[in-house]
Amino acid sequence: SPTPSPDLESLLHSVFGFREFRASQRAVCEAATKGRDVLLVMPTGAGKSLCYQLPAIARGGTALVISPLIALMDDQAHKLTSLGLNVGRIHSGLDREASRQVCRDYLDGKLQFLFIAPERFRVPGFGPMLAKRKPSLIAIDEAHCISQWGHDFRPDYRNLAAHLDALRPAPIIALTATATPQVQKDIVAELALNNAAEFIQGFRRTNLAVEVVEVSKPRRTEMARKLLSESTSRPAIIYAPSRKDAETLATELNSAFPTATYHAGLEPATRDKVQRGFLDGQLEVVVATIAFGMGIDKANVRTVLHMAMPSTVESFYQEIGRAGRDGKPARSVLMYSFADRRMHDFFLERDYPPTDTLSRIATALQAEPIHADDLRIKLRLDLDVFGPALDKLLAQGAAQIDMGGNVSRADNPSPAWMARYNTQVS
Ligand code: ADP
Ligand code: MG
Repeated sequence: SPTPSPDLESLLHSVFGFREFRASQRAVCEAATKGRDVLLVMPTGAGKSLCYQLPAIARGGTALVISPLIALMDDQAHKLTSLGLNVGRIHSGLDREASRQVCRDYLDGKLQFLFIAPERFRVPGFGPMLAKRKPSLIAIDEAHCISQWGHDFRPDYRNLAAHLDALRPAPIIALTATATPQVQKDIVAELALNNAAEFIQGFRRTNLAVEVVEVSKPRRTEMARKLLSESTSRPAIIYAPSRKDAETLATELNSAFPTATYHAGLEPATRDKVQRGFLDGQLEVVVATIAFGMGIDKANVRTVLHMAMPSTVESFYQEIGRAGRDGKPARSVLMYSFADRRMHDFFLERDYPPTDTLSRIATALQAEPIHADDLRIKLRLDLDVFGPALDKLLAQGAAQIDMGGNVSRADNPSPAWMARYNTQVS
């Protein structure tokens, strides 16, 4: 039977102003408050942040939060500050004096939360500085960044465990929305979690309707306008495949609803303005590239529209997960055509040449040079397939090419390459 925790309950009301815990939040908070290591896997928007923030407040002292993006840090820090909590951040966007002040505040025990990027531990003396006054809880947000199997691998996450050791015995709580068992295993192993309580929550977002419609490119703008014409289908995020597409569509839709575009090619000030306009409701629609998203927490997004197929299922899941975070019905529509899929296949083949193509070329290579074109014809490979595969072999040191475009087997393929090659062909 669940142990009653009036303290956690009342903190939930008094600090966060929430009526009740969602799903497994209470159990997670109890475990972390007691000092247990925790692995928490929960869908985007489900409310993971609360699961380290509430225990941090319950335990007192300072919680150290590792976060991979400045935008995420800023977002959480602003929220906590607005709740009246003392929050410090150290990241590359701050000048040296500001960072020093945050360190002093940390050492003086003035902070309830300290947000840092994992890279910070590369600064000599930073780890030992933290260890002078140990944190009461350590949260690793977006913990899948530690795994090469995840979609956002960050080498500095790998080195965390070595630094965190000196900051123990604080409990570590690792949070992610990435569910694969391989990634979960990596997180537990790499962070050296100790007898962690694992909370793995299902990924079904019951308030989200997911639709895929086949519609040709020329008809998509019209369809977007129709889909968003009911005021109940806005605010909306539209993902466009390129900056240019995003801009064209935004101009087009702006005559119907307040719309702006957001992509990495814009000035930071412009991006900020769009982000804020969308958050406070002046803008109803944002047409964006994939640059828009991580760190955006707008609860009442009613529609997420994809103008084309995203490149991975993971990014699709993340992007549609930005709809309906308030738990009310929301809709995701993906516009699709066979041509979209062909394009992704093409890029996939280009970036990851099939192993059998690599091995066919490698096997055909001789010590005597042969012109690349002749080799390609001999092997009956399309240029699209042959070119990238040959590039890869050249990069791996398995083939060499002279000024005249003649390729031959490299005299001394590196042992590392040979080992890889042998496992690939076997
Ligand atoms: P994620 O799991 O993606 O990290 P967040 O922690 O950012 O999700 O939470 C998503 C939204 O849900 C936030 O706006 C947060 O304030 C809200 N939220 C979290 N827990 C609760 C709760 N118990 N009651 C109401 N809203 C909540
Ligand atoms: Mg989060």
